[in-house]
Amino acid sequence: MPDARRREDGLLPSRGERTGSVDKWKSVFELAPDGYFITDLEGTILVANRRCEELAGRGRNELIGMSCLEETLVSATDAPKARAILERGARGQSAGPEEFRIVTKSGDSIFLEITTHPVTIEHAKLLLCIARDTTQHHRYEDSLKKANARLQALIHAIPDMVFFKDLEGRYLMVNRAVEAVAGLPGERFIGMTPDDHLPPDAAGRCRESDLLALQGDQPIHTEEYAADKDGWTRYFDIIKSPIRDGGGELLGLVAVCRDITERKKTEDALRQNEKFIRGILESVDQGFIVIDRDHRIMLANKAYLDQAKLTLPDVIGRKCFSVSHGSTKACYERGEHCAVRQTFETGEPRTATHIHRNRDQDLVYVDLKSYPLKDEEGRTIAAIEIVNNITDKKRLEEQLRHSQKMEAIGQLAGGIAHDFNNILTTIIGYGSLLKKGLNEDDPLRHDAAQVLEAAERASNLTRGLLAFGRKQSICPCAVNVNEVIGNMGRLLRRIIGEDVDILFHTEDEALVVMADVGHFEQVLMNLATNAKDAMSDGGCLTISTGKRHLDREFIQSRGFGKEGDYARITVTDTGVGFDDRIKARIFEPFFTTKATGKGTGLGLSIVYGIVKQHNGYITCESEPGSGTRFDIYFPLIKDEAVPIRPKGEAEPGGGNETILLVEDEEAVRALMKKVLERGGYRVIEAKDGEEAIERFCEQRAHIQLLVLDVIMPKKNGRDVHTWIQRERPDIKAIFVSGYTADIVTTGGILERGAAFLSKPVSPPALLGKVRELLDGNGSAKR
Ligand code: ADP
Ligand code: MG
Repeated sequence: MPDARRREDGLLPSRGERTGSVDKWKSVFELAPDGYFITDLEGTILVANRRCEELAGRGRNELIGMSCLEETLVSATDAPKARAILERGARGQSAGPEEFRIVTKSGDSIFLEITTHPVTIEHAKLLLCIARDTTQHHRYEDSLKKANARLQALIHAIPDMVFFKDLEGRYLMVNRAVEAVAGLPGERFIGMTPDDHLPPDAAGRCRESDLLALQGDQPIHTEEYAADKDGWTRYFDIIKSPIRDGGGELLGLVAVCRDITERKKTEDALRQNEKFIRGILESVDQGFIVIDRDHRIMLANKAYLDQAKLTLPDVIGRKCFSVSHGSTKACYERGEHCAVRQTFETGEPRTATHIHRNRDQDLVYVDLKSYPLKDEEGRTIAAIEIVNNITDKKRLEEQLRHSQKMEAIGQLAGGIAHDFNNILTTIIGYGSLLKKGLNEDDPLRHDAAQVLEAAERASNLTRGLLAFGRKQSICPCAVNVNEVIGNMGRLLRRIIGEDVDILFHTEDEALVVMADVGHFEQVLMNLATNAKDAMSDGGCLTISTGKRHLDREFIQSRGFGKEGDYARITVTDTGVGFDDRIKARIFEPFFTTKATGKGTGLGLSIVYGIVKQHNGYITCESEPGSGTRFDIYFPLIKDEAVPIRPKGEAEPGGGNETILLVEDEEAVRALMKKVLERGGYRVIEAKDGEEAIERFCEQRAHIQLLVLDVIMPKKNGRDVHTWIQRERPDIKAIFVSGYTADIVTTGGILERGAAFLSKPVSPPALLGKVRELLDGNGSAKR
């Protein structure tokens, strides 16, 4: 542009021309990019350049002569500023730049930044004013302010806490939410760091995550907790994002913290809930399983696994019928009642009783209850099954049934035996008399002997039944179990023969129990006999004793027993043993597996009856081929053991004393009368208790001994005795009965010192007892 330059060059006055060439300066003035105008000191415009025209939207002729204080030109609010500038100008001082809102001709507002300089032109003091258009800038700033206001409103409206921080972690700004949580006005935060208001550990965590956010480009996500103004721990979900300016320079960061305390609490509560539910499921002793519609097990608790003896992987995902029954077919397909299937069909709870098999293939009796697990639409999506192991209950029921059965059989057998015994007493009695009355060479003597022998066998049988039915009389006294067994050694060895070894392991301590020695010996003999039969090819019989405390656990597991200390007698053999079917019936009378004529089936029944009668218990364990073990428990007593008196059968002698014989059974009475009279005694008869007292009253001076049936109509034997004792305290009495139970209930007859005879009474026994008592040795001996 050489022409332009030349023109510009031409515009520039030389040093010599400068003051004089006003026209040239006018050109400069005229072409300036800013508005140039000159006013007098009152503010009236004297000269204005072209740019001024453009800015004000007014022609120069209009501008010139206008006052800068005019409202139509300068906004009224800016008038004081204008006046101040004029005053400075009057004092010869420059002013500005100062921003003014100028009203254009069209009424729009523009913003001008005006600088004033005092000038003197042709001796007149004037003001040169330079106006730069800042409208654009002003508008930009304005919109920036608005944007900022919107941003602020937004930030404060956010319910989450918002923190702006500088590079050193100092707060630049926080929103209202922060104020609410911290209980401090927002301004107080400015310049503070987390160290100024958080506990050291929380502040430390905050600093760390700040650093992390500042080091990266992306927002980071963290979870923090800190105490609020009331000291409660609050949890926050935090996003921290670095802030960079347009040039990418790091300015600081913004942190948005969401209070998730409530959510956390709910989550914790749910977790806790879940823990509790799981805890409950795992600690109850009822089995729980969840089964889907496909009959697959989805969940199982510990109790279920324990009773099935399985582990979780053994059952999860497997069909329930395969796990519980080892079957490939569902229970309902095998015609079994399936509670789960019914629950699926009806959407209702259902019950069933099944027999499952555990891992060891043992039978487990279970009560099942199945409940529907429904979705939101009410469809049954799974079944919850409660599996309750009732095997123990079943076993106890079985035991109860068994003992009830034994009781019933006992009653029947005992009842028959008792009545039969009276008949036998007559047969044996008269048989003996008959035999005695016949000469040695009389052929009928042999017949009589046969009758007596058969009757004796029948008597043995009834004795067995009476023993089983616990209707045999017993005379218990304190005995040391070890001693009784010790005394039986030789006898037992004889019973079991040479092929079988016999071992004794007796407890060192004396085991004193109340027992009828004869009966106790009978128990051991019967057990030894069976053991011998079971060990026909030889073996070993072991008899051991020990002290055993029967505790609750024992009683619960067996379904019988009374807590306390017991003497335990264990009889073990190495014989053929037996299975559970035989075991169930072993104590029944006449149950035998032996050939006819070999076994009577009464051996163990007698054992059972005797043990029961002694308030004891008997258990047995056996397996085919593995021998047998019987355990007998007799309650221990604290008394000292009394020595066991050897039985001596002295030949009974007769006498001439007077005896009152009271017996309601006529045949028995007649027999006893005959026996006694043969012995030389004088007998006064009575058929019941009342008659007995009448007879006593008539002949009280002569009567020296009473023979009393225990159970009689009108007045029983004991009452008769008591009545007579009031008059004759020293009178001796022999009680006769087939029942022991009766004696026990009428009370105290068997106390030591009372004389007793059990039916059937043999003549020598009766005579012996009578003599014994009359001679003053009245003791309880059968
Ligand atoms: P018996 O001996 O007359 O058969 P028991 O009442 O003594 O009658 O016994 C009943 C049954 O119990 C026997 O027939 C036998 O089958 C079985 N038994 C008893 N004891 C034993 C034992 N020690 N070993 C094997 N089996 C036994
Ligand atoms: Mg036997």
